[in-house]
Amino acid sequence: MLSRTPEEVAAHAGAAPGLTVLDAGITECFACPRLVTWRAEVAVTKRASFRDQTYWGRPLPGFGPADAEIAILGLAPAAHGGNRTGRIFTGDRSGDVLFAALHRAGLANQPTSVSADDGLALTHTRIFAAVRCAPPDNKPLPVERDSCAPWLHREVTLIRPTLRVVVALGAFAWAAWWPVLKQVYALKAPVPRPVFTHGAHVSVPGGPDLLGCYHVSQQNTFTGRLTPVMLDEVFSRAKGLAGLA
Ligand code: SF4
Repeated sequence: MLSRTPEEVAAHAGAAPGLTVLDAGITECFACPRLVTWRAEVAVTKRASFRDQTYWGRPLPGFGPADAEIAILGLAPAAHGGNRTGRIFTGDRSGDVLFAALHRAGLANQPTSVSADDGLALTHTRIFAAVRCAPPDNKPLPVERDSCAPWLHREVTLIRPTLRVVVALGAFAWAAWWPVLKQVYALKAPVPRPVFTHGAHVSVPGGPDLLGCYHVSQQNTFTGRLTPVMLDEVFSRAKGLAGLA
């Protein structure tokens, strides 16, 4: 089920009856020429420290159980993290911080995420990104965000029966949530749109709660803008809102 155009993305995503088919369809997507070129180029040139590894070099599906109450919405895979290992937030410092926090919160069975076959399992939590391919400089173009949106919308639709709270990692993910609210829940976003801040909480009746959290990027965690304590607070709130506390 190759997707070569935004129209094919929309058709294939909309027709996916479950996460298994959706996940497979995402990995066979070639709809964004710039990102297709970039993900493949990175997979060939590699980072020196990973030169003996075979990079995934493709889009990334979500990770976590289909009956998750908590969703973590990121921006896009990292060039030498998820784009290398084939699993979101796996094999880079962002993932180190995120999965350590999920483990402390009791939502992951181990604190590290180094490879797709390392035994990591999440409970109550599914992680996915607004854009499924690694972008240059971690900056997807608006057209790429829009082309990829049907994968996100379908994923949320499929986990909607259990989903209670969404943690948006950063302003890009926060902004990507409003179209989901409309497309998946037929709900209007608040006007004016709530501004992204760390700790922001938006509750729209009929939809899951939305929590803002600074992205787990090295830029934020190395500088202390986002600390483990702050992450623990976010996931504690998420569990409470999801009825898991
Ligand atoms: S970013 Fe999304 S729509 Fe674009 S090629 Fe990757 S998976 Fe397909």
